[in-house]
Amino acid sequence: MNSFESLGLIEPLQRAIADANYESMTPIQAKAIPPLLEGNDVLGCAQTGTGKTAAFLLPIIEKLGSEELPDKPVIRALVLTPTRELAAQIGDSFETYAKYLDLHYQVIFGGVSQKPQVSSLRKGLDVLVATPGRLLDLHNQGHVDLSEVSFFVLDEADRMLDMGFIHDIRKVLAVLPKRRQNLLFSATMPDSIVKLASGFLYEPIRVEVDPQSTTVERISQTVMYVDKSDKRRLLVDMLSRPEVESAIVFTRTKHGANRVTKELSKAGIEAAAIHGNKSQGARLRALSGFKSGDLRVLVATDIASRGIDVDGVSHVFNFELPNIPESYVHRIGRTGRAGREGIAIAFCDDTENSYLRDIEKLIGQRLEIDSQHEWHSERARTSTEPPPKRGQGQGNRGGGGGGNRGGGRRKKPGSGGGGGGGGRPGGGGGSRGRRRRSRNRG
Ligand code: AMP
Repeated sequence: MNSFESLGLIEPLQRAIADANYESMTPIQAKAIPPLLEGNDVLGCAQTGTGKTAAFLLPIIEKLGSEELPDKPVIRALVLTPTRELAAQIGDSFETYAKYLDLHYQVIFGGVSQKPQVSSLRKGLDVLVATPGRLLDLHNQGHVDLSEVSFFVLDEADRMLDMGFIHDIRKVLAVLPKRRQNLLFSATMPDSIVKLASGFLYEPIRVEVDPQSTTVERISQTVMYVDKSDKRRLLVDMLSRPEVESAIVFTRTKHGANRVTKELSKAGIEAAAIHGNKSQGARLRALSGFKSGDLRVLVATDIASRGIDVDGVSHVFNFELPNIPESYVHRIGRTGRAGREGIAIAFCDDTENSYLRDIEKLIGQRLEIDSQHEWHSERARTSTEPPPKRGQGQGNRGGGGGGNRGGGRRKKPGSGGGGGGGGRPGGGGGSRGRRRRSRNRG
């Protein structure tokens, strides 16, 4: 019963889903889409990689695609998301799913000229995907009309709060119409999120996918004990193996990411780092090179990695274990996406055993030990050494993406100019004629 056909979506949407080669719904989609289609508010606990984007975009597109289109598009759906990368990816997904419909969308984030965004807002949009800072800027300047929003999505709510967006979120909520459908997605459900949710969701249906099943079942996880000084050699060795088709290497700090990238390139392995100190252009270039397959290895910090949505990452290496165990789950979620298998390998040195224990507690399983490598260290395995103090390369919560109010527009290859981050799915200029769309149910 997890087939998309069972949803009875409008035909253009079904065709787009078929084009994307999605065979069946992912668990979060199977749980969230039906109540959303029925008009309920939904509170969802799901991480990136579970298919959550489609879980909210498909009902939005179904709804907008079935309604009578106003003469000039008005923003009827607003998606608020913490980072520019996520915003751009949601925009890409929208384009994929809405390609057979005449719906206009725009992705907006700060750090780039607002001009193209404003001009696209002027022409009229059906769907707006935005980071909070720029949205409020443009709203304060009178460029954004949110008075017709009937569908509001708050994506990655926990990350939003971590990044200090709570006030911005409240300001946005205050200007939305009272009658609307709401969805909140969060990877974790601390009290702060439950409280935020209870402030604007109406009798929400709670849906969640068990993070344990997503991590434990699909991803093969192992730990390699190694001395700190040998980690780079071990990494070079691992990355030289033919089965590593593409890999993300995680470090705790920006500095660490740069160092690892440099070492790899010395060893003849091309890699690019993404973190908050990199220029926007550099980050987006690295990401698009990685997505296209030109670049095999990406080195990332935790926050920068949020929302990296690349299919078919074969390996995730935890070059340094995260000091926040949830980050481990996010990290390894970059591989084994949407049902595919992935491999996650953790390097653990003599100062990281306490991190490893926290991780194992969170995921409810022990990582299998791989000692069949040249640099296996019994000292690291048996060490009870505490981790280095904060300030010595720890506590990288803010180290990756930085406060993401700024943002570079991510240009799709071959998408031409514009600088608006949005567009007309289905391409082809032509008339902006709005017509009543028939509900062609397949
Ligand atoms: P998300 O969790 O939204 O970041 O989605 C993760 C990845 O899963 C994206 O690359 C989607 O294209 C893909 N995806 C989403 N839904 C499905 C599905 N039903 N079947 C296969 N892949 C999917």
